Amino acid sequence: MTTDQPEPERLWPEEWQRGPRFSGAYSFMRVPLTRDLRFADVAIVGVPFDGGVNHRPGARFGPRGIRNATAQVRAHPMPGDPLWGPLETLRVVDYGDLDVSSPYIAYAIDKMQELLAPIFAAGVTPIILGGDHTISLPILRAMAQTHGPASLVHFDAHPDFWKPTDASRPYHHGTPFRLAADEGLIRVHESVQIGIRGSVSGAILHEVREAGFHMITADEFYELGVHGALERLHRVVRPPVYVSLDIDCADPAYAPGTGTPEVAGLTSRELVQLVRGLRGLPIVGFDIVEVAPPFDQSEITALLAANLVYEFLELAAALKRGSNRRATSNRAGRASAPAARRRPRNRPAS
Ligand code: MN
Ligand code: MN
Repeated sequence: MTTDQPEPERLWPEEWQRGPRFSGAYSFMRVPLTRDLRFADVAIVGVPFDGGVNHRPGARFGPRGIRNATAQVRAHPMPGDPLWGPLETLRVVDYGDLDVSSPYIAYAIDKMQELLAPIFAAGVTPIILGGDHTISLPILRAMAQTHGPASLVHFDAHPDFWKPTDASRPYHHGTPFRLAADEGLIRVHESVQIGIRGSVSGAILHEVREAGFHMITADEFYELGVHGALERLHRVVRPPVYVSLDIDCADPAYAPGTGTPEVAGLTSRELVQLVRGLRGLPIVGFDIVEVAPPFDQSEITALLAANLVYEFLELAAALKRGSNRRATSNRAGRASAPAARRRPRNRPAS
């Protein structure tokens, strides 16, 4: 892979972004649909797999639903924020969907890891659209191949930390973080779960805390508030950081289109504020999972997910701006040194 051609300022024909937003290319916010990662900072990747659910399926349609909902997302400026429009700062590609829709779950999981590893290895930050939460395990396996174990920031109504009842068949959407912890993919003592609630989750809270997770249940969140929760989070996590957001962290009033809804959850506003509060963390990847369009109403859930991905892009843009300021070489220097591109760029110097 060479980068001897000049590095382009933008990766897509400008006219793709003109015209009404319900028209144009079928991709996330009409960014280019390509698997060419040479100049990409961020890749949007769909993983349309829901073979690991214990309750209602439908998250296999999540990537399509989220992409559709981006027709309602504008690259908007934040008042007083120089970081308006992450697409001005970042080169974002839509990598399309991975071909992993096999009913053989162990095969599908291996395939996900195999297909995602090169994205992390290329120094690109993936934003992965699920899919049910099973997919976070192969994502973390692929992530760790490049970055080593990460601090996990996990938004969810459920801790997804169940011990598999059958060790020979461990995979479903309730086990990914138990397995990730056992495999050393995440540093549990430097990881945070936010939004946990519900009777099923209550049965396992003690076990999760015993394992070392810093858990902020939905009830505790209402005592702490956004700022209190973020303060705790920033005290705990260490680089590199991986963010996994299960849309059922939001209350079913804000996210009805999901497989395992739990009442008394976070508002969409609180979730957006929490994600914004992650700015500055050296995040090496994101996923957003459990969006199930067959159960959605008026695209409420898909629209929230699309906007949360937009917030992820803002975080990645802030990180890139920060590292550009620190870097001594300029863009041209980066283009002439392709080897440097393969280093994980988001890992901080100290
Ligand atoms: Mn989950
Ligand atoms: Mn959940």
